[in-house]
Amino acid sequence: MATHKVGGEVDALCTRCKLTLAHTILAMVGTKIARVRCNTCGGDHAYRGAPGVTDRPSSSSTTRTARASSSSSPSKAEKIIISFEEQLAGKDVASAPRYSPKDTYRVDQVIQHPTFGTGFVTAVRGDKVDITFRGDTKTLVHGRGGAPAEKPVFSPPVRQTTGPADKPQPVSEDAEQLPIPSDEELFPSSGD
Ligand SMILES: [Zn+2]
Repeated sequence: MATHKVGGEVDALCTRCKLTLAHTILAMVGTKIARVRCNTCGGDHAYRGAPGVTDRPSSSSTTRTARASSSSSPSKAEKIIISFEEQLAGKDVASAPRYSPKDTYRVDQVIQHPTFGTGFVTAVRGDKVDITFRGDTKTLVHGRGGAPAEKPVFSPPVRQTTGPADKPQPVSEDAEQLPIPSDEELFPSSGD
């Protein structure tokens, strides 16, 4: 097929006639037809190829090389690598227990391994734990002390209600977390 040029004819979908009809090319961007005039109804519209083919006019022909990304400013795509020491910095290394397969561990817990050294738990999968040591991550077993590993027998009081609790709520597994009513609900203003 010959190369299209302005003034030539092309079959295009007319948006007004809702048919693929002969059009006169009015404008082109590069080798792509940008605008056409329907030979049947005489209407100007953007060129559309056969129905279903999305030939949207792109402005990519104007070579806009991305010069905005300078090396001085940190880009958001930059991968931040945190060293092992930095990852351990915020954790309780001093009271890290020695690793034992009989103990049950939780994520972020720091342990001391006789072979691998200091590490912290990155994942808990049933009776297995992923522990990241310096330069390597090992999958070790835990929770082999007789207690069922599926249900944690000890849950540390990490979740504390920071708001003023009017009355202590009994902790039940079946209890739903009800939203705390706002002041408006507690003290409705009689605006009438
Ligand atoms: Zn038309």
